[in-house]
Amino acid sequence: MKFTIDATSNKARACTITTAHSTIQTPIFMPVGTVGSVKSLDMQDMMDTLETQIILANTYHMYLRPGADTVKQLGGLHKYTTYNKSFLTDSGGFQAFSLSDISKAMENGIEFRSHIDGSKHLFTPSSVIDTQNALGSDIMMILDDLVALPATQERIKLSIERTTAWAKESIEYHKANQAKGIGLDQNIFAIIQGGTDLAFRTKSATELCALEDYNGFAIGGLSVGESNNLMYDTVEHTTQYMPENKPRYLMGVGTPEDLIENIERGVDMFDCVMPTRNARNGTLFTSFGRINIRGAKFKLQDIPIDSECECLTCKRYSRAYLHHLCRAKELTFFRLASLHNLHYYLNLVKQAREAILADRFAEFKREFYSKRS
Ligand SMILES: [Zn+2]
Repeated sequence: MKFTIDATSNKARACTITTAHSTIQTPIFMPVGTVGSVKSLDMQDMMDTLETQIILANTYHMYLRPGADTVKQLGGLHKYTTYNKSFLTDSGGFQAFSLSDISKAMENGIEFRSHIDGSKHLFTPSSVIDTQNALGSDIMMILDDLVALPATQERIKLSIERTTAWAKESIEYHKANQAKGIGLDQNIFAIIQGGTDLAFRTKSATELCALEDYNGFAIGGLSVGESNNLMYDTVEHTTQYMPENKPRYLMGVGTPEDLIENIERGVDMFDCVMPTRNARNGTLFTSFGRINIRGAKFKLQDIPIDSECECLTCKRYSRAYLHHLCRAKELTFFRLASLHNLHYYLNLVKQAREAILADRFAEFKREFYSKRS
């Protein structure tokens, strides 16, 4: 991975990440392709219509079905799905923790039962790397010890100690693999934990960022129900301990406002199911805030969702028609709404990048909020 900082505007950064499959200009939003597909869209949408350079796939889902070996046998994620830009895969730990009825964090990994058939599995720091090697993603995430908030100080302390121990084990395993010719084109990121306790975040960030072989670092364990300001303060505190010369990824965040606030605090990469999940229930993001297209007032509105939006949906269809498709639960609605919402998110980070390059991010942020008020 090649990483360069193209410009900064106060703490906000515009960077370029080059992987074996694509050139990614940050700040970047990565659509979530849970089972190797972004819900209701296909890879032509992702590549030609939305022009994404990176998407995320969930290791937990791919591991359970169709199985990492199946994907490997069919040429890895890029060939299997036909998406030939970059893939980031998570470790699977978050889904093992949140989707499984029974999941247990142990000294050597996370034990869980499949949400599909109840079968028992164990994710360890090395096993999730094996799985991501088989998938062939461009960026692999390591296994971390997640805790549900609120948690006791003792549990958070154990989580960051375990996360550091697992991070050391993971990087040693990855380096040993690379010495054997495995995962040569794959990059690996560690995940900073510590809840919203700033002292714990300092400890976790300092310990992990000292592991110099990592290609990038993520901030995990946020956007789990804490207040926005607490999230922003935790990010602002944590980024100061993260190296400048490596990508910074805030996992699972968030709303358009969250993106703007955290770009301002020095975050480069984001992912979230919000644009696609919300699209499916009729919530559409616009430059003037969000709307729910189910609302009766849209029935006769013969105008696009957002007059400033240049997405395929807005260029062609009216609010009135989308309102009808949404109410009729037409499958077409899921696609058109997802295309619009993802276009909105991707365009937002693109505009943020342009503002950083022109060193006018603060002004851009003011304009972003003033359109919404
Ligand atoms: Zn649109």
